[in-house]
Amino acid sequence: MRDIASDDMTIFKKIKDLQDFLQQQKGRTIGFVPTMGALHNGHRSLIEKAKESTEIVVCSIFVNPTQFNDKSDFEKYPVTTDADIALLTEAGCNVLFLPDVAEMYPGGLDKGTIYDFGYLETVLEGAMRPGHFKGVGQVVSHLINIVQPNKLFMGQKDYQQCMVVRDLLRQMGKENSVELVICPTKREADGLAMSSRNRRLSEPQRVLSGILYQCLVSIQSKKSSDNFALVQKECTDLLKAKGIEPEYVALADARDLKILDNYNGNAMVALIAAKVGNVRLIDNLILE
Ligand code: AMP
Repeated sequence: MRDIASDDMTIFKKIKDLQDFLQQQKGRTIGFVPTMGALHNGHRSLIEKAKESTEIVVCSIFVNPTQFNDKSDFEKYPVTTDADIALLTEAGCNVLFLPDVAEMYPGGLDKGTIYDFGYLETVLEGAMRPGHFKGVGQVVSHLINIVQPNKLFMGQKDYQQCMVVRDLLRQMGKENSVELVICPTKREADGLAMSSRNRRLSEPQRVLSGILYQCLVSIQSKKSSDNFALVQKECTDLLKAKGIEPEYVALADARDLKILDNYNGNAMVALIAAKVGNVRLIDNLILE
């Protein structure tokens, strides 16, 4: 059996080789962190969290074409493989799975099980990015079947995606065998949520982008008011005044993402999506 306690990270490009390796580790708990690469400290925090409670940490880097509704977003998605390998090695990741499109979709991009996430596909990210969550379900289910993790680590940064994956695990009949661990959003000093897309922002755009988090904080701070519509308008006006194009500024029930017209006493989440130049950013805050 290979010693996974060494500092080396093993890289696999083929499903069969990864599975053979994991087979040899039988009995050890597997933590899995799926990513699209261009890794930053948000991803790193997921690896670190996985290391706390599982014995083998597997990270995947795969820019999944089927979840991009915008072709140019896919084409411009940053690829920084050497830096990613360095970050993962330093973070103590044990295994990197780095497949290409042909390995993941040998029969074509429309093959594999396509899941239906109902309501979640119709609101917010689902509405703005048609087909996006179908692509997420397709790739995450495939990856889960390959890696067979005990725990799956995902970021709250992609709140709706976490809900979709929770539903996916239920539909796969794995809600009791794969634990979904939702990890807090890592932010830059000004509050901007770390994101692979941030590196596509120019310096002035980067400075402006901190406003997204300020909007979320202001939604939170006004939660005892009785006029979310006003707070929502203040936020959209503020974003527009800065030259940022808001796609949505929304309030939803944190449990099922039902859109709320106004604050209520329940668990709520504020969500925002906006375009800074041609870079689309999303963020959210659970209202404490
Ligand atoms: P991505 O590479 O963007 O697909 O993200 C891979 C995983 O990292 C997803 O579960 C994301 O939610 C998570 N993630 C991305 N950004 C952050 C962040 N700033 N903090 C915590 N997790 C994040």
